[in-house]
Amino acid sequence: MTVRCAEVALLAPLPRPLTYLLPDDLAMQVQPGMRVKVPLGRRSAVGVVLAVTDDCSLPRLKPVDEVLDELPLLNEKLLEFIRRASAYYVHPLGLALKTALPAGLGSLQSAPKIKQTKVYCRTAQQLELRGAMQRQVLDYIEQHQPVDLAVLREQFSSPYSVLQRLESLDLIRYDVQETARDPFVGLNVSADLPQVLTTEQASAVDAISAATAEQAFVPFLLHGVTGSGKTEVYLQSIQAVLAAGNQALVLVPEIALTPQLVARFRARFEAQQRRVGVLHSGMSAAERYDMWRAIVRDGRDTGEGDGVDIVIGARSAVFAPLSRLGIIVVDEEHDDSYKQSEGFRYQGRDLALMRGQMEKVPVVLGSATPALTSYRRAQQGALRCLPLPQRIGDRTLPQVELVDMRTATVEGGLSEPLIEAIDERLQRGEQSLLLLNRRGFSPYLLCGDCGGSYRCPNCDITLTWHRQVAQLRCHYCDYMQPPKDCCPQCGGAAMEPEGMGTERLAAELQQRFPGARIARMDRDTTSAKGAQQALVSKMEARQVDILVGTQMVAKGHDFAAVTLVGILDADATLNFPDFRAAERSFSLLAQVAGRAGRGELQGAVIVQTYAPDNPVLSCAVDHDYHTFAEQELPMRQMLLYPPYGYLVNLLISGLDRKSVENCAEQLAGMLDGTAGVEVLGPAACPLFRLRNRYRMQILLKSETRPPLRQLLAGAAQWRKNFPATVSLAIDVDPVDMM
Ligand code: ADP
Ligand code: ZN
Repeated sequence: MTVRCAEVALLAPLPRPLTYLLPDDLAMQVQPGMRVKVPLGRRSAVGVVLAVTDDCSLPRLKPVDEVLDELPLLNEKLLEFIRRASAYYVHPLGLALKTALPAGLGSLQSAPKIKQTKVYCRTAQQLELRGAMQRQVLDYIEQHQPVDLAVLREQFSSPYSVLQRLESLDLIRYDVQETARDPFVGLNVSADLPQVLTTEQASAVDAISAATAEQAFVPFLLHGVTGSGKTEVYLQSIQAVLAAGNQALVLVPEIALTPQLVARFRARFEAQQRRVGVLHSGMSAAERYDMWRAIVRDGRDTGEGDGVDIVIGARSAVFAPLSRLGIIVVDEEHDDSYKQSEGFRYQGRDLALMRGQMEKVPVVLGSATPALTSYRRAQQGALRCLPLPQRIGDRTLPQVELVDMRTATVEGGLSEPLIEAIDERLQRGEQSLLLLNRRGFSPYLLCGDCGGSYRCPNCDITLTWHRQVAQLRCHYCDYMQPPKDCCPQCGGAAMEPEGMGTERLAAELQQRFPGARIARMDRDTTSAKGAQQALVSKMEARQVDILVGTQMVAKGHDFAAVTLVGILDADATLNFPDFRAAERSFSLLAQVAGRAGRGELQGAVIVQTYAPDNPVLSCAVDHDYHTFAEQELPMRQMLLYPPYGYLVNLLISGLDRKSVENCAEQLAGMLDGTAGVEVLGPAACPLFRLRNRYRMQILLKSETRPPLRQLLAGAAQWRKNFPATVSLAIDVDPVDMM
């Protein structure tokens, strides 16, 4: 019998895969894409088998200890995809694999288990219960049993004391099971039928379906204003893919924030006995692992019908192990959350294009405000543009009004026109949505005597005052402390909140409109599981009059009764020190404005600004993406920024300031003079200190990719020249350069 070996990528920062011997019994079992346990020095480690070979000529090979999976977690196409992605982003393959796999599979601990508690009714007797709440909960359980405990938690705000009481009366019983859990269980889904498409929608669906029928890679840009029916185009294009026996992958930004979109997919496809799987960071490790396995098994254990037909997920779902992929959709393709900002710094939308190309399936990028890079590629013919220029039906885009804050009467951050507009909505029983992209009560507590404020001990940033919880918090490292009685600098007693965050805005509004029902949507109010869903449901049920929030409120919500959108501080994103500030601002404004007037009623938008002449704002007023893009592109071209040039950011960081600075200097000196590459820096990052680490960056810029690729080929060597205490992160196509 021939000796066999496995090439294994350890899920660790190693520059290349290692080879291990395969004992006979394991050789029978193992396939590429399975995890194995192998010795590494005196320890054990987990790796993914890349290939099984007969070439075992290397000396002193150690054997594989154990095969950890019974099915490959990654098929060969997916392995090749991740290999290319890791090469493109200059990130070790093992770590790229670790990012691609659901959390928890990279360690030797056993796979995460799911506990699910079901609640049953013990008796159907009508009993005289004293509390109305007890009655309600019991009724609910009776009608829906067995009921997930998690569902009860979503339906009733804090059901535990009630449940305890019911259990003590022997009216209910619990049953703990270990099963796969659908994180979206409890969402009400009613069947939904395909719409009759508009002419534009129909030609978009036709073009996409032609590509899916041919099994060809065609990249599309579905450029449609908010409310133009993009989602319906996705749904019907996917319908055709499923009919042909294939699967669909749908990427969305921060899925936990857009339960409505998931609900629409389920409403359409579950009515046809199709299974919609969801993958996102709000799920527990166990839930994600379970979903991953369901996708891998694809109905293998249980026969037909158990496979997942559609996977909807945030950026990491681009690695979902679908084996019959027929189409990839990237919704809101311009969204920055597609870029992972740590570790394996990939861009999910770009990888979707890469995967589509490798698997020969069409990729549909959808947006009302495409990334300028996508817009430009469509102009050049590299993306095929499918325009949806109008809103569905007679709905018009909302009227946008700028308020000049330099001359307006302002109280508590609210200008008079905005206050009046909110008041009108309250009188008419319509909803208002206010965007203020800063959470907390105020960004500073400022000393009236010396101007001092609290600063984070770990980062170069002031601490934000959160009044409700009476804490000062760092929004970068989550450090928190209670405020002292006096100024941390001069000891004076006059610390006052300065500036406005969402918490303060909500409080101001409550004071001004005492009868109004005000809710807040930001990271503080939505961090608990199900909280975001609950807020959305309350908005839909019109139990909220004014919703205040950060950019979260801009994302994809479809609230029919919102007729007013107010943008409190349009200048905040515009003045950001970043070449993409204008692009980000325009898209944020257009997206949040797009939340107004989605129902029968006409919508209006009020934008407060100190710079009403800014051309970005005038384009937003006119809903004019094209003019905005045509103004912005020449500026990018002049400075050779994307889409005209390519960037790589090198981030050098460490605990010791001097050695970070030295390393950065040396590296920049070494790179300087490379033909075709401009080396900018080293410079201190705008946030020089973050989580106690000092940070410097070197920006590499080039008109074409090849010189950058060539330069990056030497990157492994750069790291070797650094002391162990200084680390180097390579960010290809960076988005955030803070
Ligand atoms: P977008 O995703 O572009 O913001 P949606 O797909 O959410 O737009 O569509 C906006 C609204 O119009 C939704 O309520 C949707 O159900 C409805 N809609 C979409 N297409 C059609 C159609 N062809 N006929 C009637 N209504 C439609
Ligand atoms: Zn901090």
